[in-house]
Amino acid sequence: MQEAIEKLQQAVNESNYIVFFGGAGVSTESGIPDFRSQDGLYSQKYKYPPETIVSHSFFMRKTEEFYDFYRDKMIFMDAKPNAAHLKLAELEAAGKLKAVITQNIDGLHQAAGSKEVLELHGSTLRNYCMNCGKRYDGVKYIVESAGVPKCEDCGGVIRPDVVLYEEGLDNSVIRRAVDHIARADLLIIGGTSLVVYPAAGFIDYFHGRHLAVINMSETSRDKAADILIQGKIGEVLSQITV
Ligand code: NAD
Repeated sequence: MQEAIEKLQQAVNESNYIVFFGGAGVSTESGIPDFRSQDGLYSQKYKYPPETIVSHSFFMRKTEEFYDFYRDKMIFMDAKPNAAHLKLAELEAAGKLKAVITQNIDGLHQAAGSKEVLELHGSTLRNYCMNCGKRYDGVKYIVESAGVPKCEDCGGVIRPDVVLYEEGLDNSVIRRAVDHIARADLLIIGGTSLVVYPAAGFIDYFHGRHLAVINMSETSRDKAADILIQGKIGEVLSQITV
């Protein structure tokens, strides 16, 4: 592993348009469970599978049950950025990294100081009334309300600005993400199982020099990577010097 980390350091040194593409594994070291690891949400038992609960049709039909799960398993008030988030922000501040493209909805990259963060699946920190559009920023209103959170102005149902299963991604976010990936000289993929589409497919736009994959388990892009590191992303990235 140490040899691969040295290769990553070398690639970082010689690259000027680094792009990071990540997922839930980036935040596990902050105490937020991912979906597909052994202790991830998919291994726990619920009345419905998690992908059913966080779907558009379930939200519309069983909003209260959606919110029971959502408050319990998808909002982490006390989570703090870990070494991975912090290193990526440092690389951006140094002008080397141009964008973080994330499937995460926890806002931890911004909390670490990253500026160009493309949230493919939205954010739990943004919420809005489905009736009048009033915005509720942060998670406080959702956490502190009981049952289905309702708009204080019109009584409409409030929903998180996250992309649920069966819903489409924001086109302008896709365009910016794909544009960054197409320009990258080093693409670092980390903490993602790469099974959620269309997000995982955006990587196909990469034609740069170095592809690095940092993940605890195997991914479909391991063979294409010239730098492959099976390890914890926070532990790995903390060893990179900017
Ligand atoms: P996933 O759960 O499918 O895969 C996570 C991957 O990260 C796994 O391959 C696992 O081996 C790896 N991993 C776990 N901890 C790691 C670590 N410390 N270092 C390196 N690798 C690690 O996650 P996904 O691919 O992002 O897809 C799940 C979907 O669920 C996403 O669309 C995302 O929106 C959502 N989700 C988000 C959060 C969050 O915002 N933090 C949490 C859970 C799920």
